[in-house]
Amino acid sequence: MQARYGEGPPRRYEQARILGGGSAINALLSNRGSPADYDEWAALGAAGWAWDDVLPWFRRIETDRDFDGPLHGKDGPLKIRRPDAAALSPFVARVREVLAGQGHPVRADQNGEWLDGTFPSAVGQSDAGTRQPTSLTWLTAAVRARPNLRILTGHQAMRLILDGRRVTGADIAGPSGAVQRIAAARTVLSMGAIHSPAMLLRSGIGPAGGLRAAGIAPVHDLPGVGANLMEHPSIAIGAYLPPALRVRDEDEHHEQGVWRWSSGLPGIPAGDMHGSILSRSGWHSVGRRIGSIFFWVNKSYSRGRVTLTHPNDAPRIDFAMLSDRRDLDRLKQALRMGAAALTDPRLSDCGPVFPTSYTPRVARVAAPGRWNAIQRGTLSAALDAAGPLRAALIHGLVTQGVTLRALLADDAALEAFVQANVGGTWHASGTCRMGAGGDLWAGTGPDGAVRGVTGLSIADASVMPSIPCANTNLPTIMVAERIAAMIASALRQAEGSGDMPSERC
Ligand SMILES: Cc1cc2nc3c(=O)[nH]c(=O)nc-3n(C[C@H](O)[C@H](O)[C@H](O)COP(=O)(O)OP(=O)(O)OC[C@H]3O[C@@H](n4cnc5c(N)ncnc54)[C@H](O)[C@@H]3O)c2cc1C
Repeated sequence: MQARYGEGPPRRYEQARILGGGSAINALLSNRGSPADYDEWAALGAAGWAWDDVLPWFRRIETDRDFDGPLHGKDGPLKIRRPDAAALSPFVARVREVLAGQGHPVRADQNGEWLDGTFPSAVGQSDAGTRQPTSLTWLTAAVRARPNLRILTGHQAMRLILDGRRVTGADIAGPSGAVQRIAAARTVLSMGAIHSPAMLLRSGIGPAGGLRAAGIAPVHDLPGVGANLMEHPSIAIGAYLPPALRVRDEDEHHEQGVWRWSSGLPGIPAGDMHGSILSRSGWHSVGRRIGSIFFWVNKSYSRGRVTLTHPNDAPRIDFAMLSDRRDLDRLKQALRMGAAALTDPRLSDCGPVFPTSYTPRVARVAAPGRWNAIQRGTLSAALDAAGPLRAALIHGLVTQGVTLRALLADDAALEAFVQANVGGTWHASGTCRMGAGGDLWAGTGPDGAVRGVTGLSIADASVMPSIPCANTNLPTIMVAERIAAMIASALRQAEGSGDMPSERC
């Protein structure tokens, strides 16, 4: 789909369209964010979501294969591990040494105490080394065999059915386009932070003015639906790698190292910045020749919005990244720090070093197809053979004339580069955020129930009050587990009081 990132024209934004959602396609990084993130959720009105409340839920969804103690789970369904020292790419190991020399402590556990430094990445991988999507890890064979569960793949939920302000089900289109109505006493949306608010809007739940402008009759005026869209704005720095610094094992996960630091901007919590140290910047031959650090503002403040312009159109996504000046300043800081790291004399055997980002052009290089493969092969051979002309080749073909030296010498040029090239991290969140009763901008209550309608809850990244300093898969699973438990508990209570709806979903 298309999204506006910063001030430039819309660019593509990838989201999963598969059972299991992002967990079935993502980069497997498995971390939770800082305790302060969740204390902030509670302070923003999501009572019961402070760190001490959520930590037991994080622990119960994981089995950490490397660490134990009060911050780790040992018997949850998701296995978490870090790369073996032997599997570490020489580039990633060297960058961590360089950063240690520049004052960033070497630490062992990204999911331990929230401290600055560099870490081996915590990765969600089974003992066999495979991905653990929620569609297999939670929907096990035993769960799929339950008589009260029916999974429909290849179907698209079109809109909710409302009887006044009571949700009574949804219209679902099958692969042929035929629409069927599913009746439900309780409906739970988990369509992610782009599509859950879009579903509400399409069904007449959202800001009344915006709904009318899109040709949708408002059923319930809920101003916060689609607002508070958050992401982690990103930028990157790359370096050509000589053969000795390239990945040894191509099957090894490429995001092997994490660099966390505190920007020091006034009033911003510690550990607000993140760099993923990548052994290769793509699965292909060109990617293997380029190591990089992919930076993002982990504690970001800019907020965008998801809207509809027509009930049948795809949602309009505007992340408004960098609209909060603090996010722009910190991405500039990241590029400067990345430049200092990769041009350190201890990395003099790699280079040239150049600014980059995950643009549609970069994505196109990775696309399958014979012609692309031929072009990649030619570029890889040219990079290896270019010798003293390598910098010219990279600046001509990869960065389109932009050099790191020019950006570092001219703050306005650095700022313009970041504004034009800011990317995301696929961590959309916050568009139906949980909040307290009187909060007009809260789309959901602290139990995930959509405000002002009955029979409808949300259990996905859209209910997050603010984006945590984390890759958002584990936080989303934690949220979903808790909201599911709250719904189950409410159902049990209703059963006990004989107050059960006659029809169950
Ligand atoms: C490319 C990529 C890489 C990522 N890497 C990482 C990582 O390494 N670590 C990490 O922690 N996080 C990562 N994430 C983020 C993480 O996967 C998401 O935060 C998480 O999956 C969000 O869960 P969700 O349930 O909110 O939404 P999603 O995972 O997006 O799930 C929404 C589901 O709803 C379905 N859906 C949407 N609309 C409809 C409709 N109308 N009808 C029927 N179904 C619909 C979608 O097909 C999808 O299955 C990544 C995400 C992406 C896309």
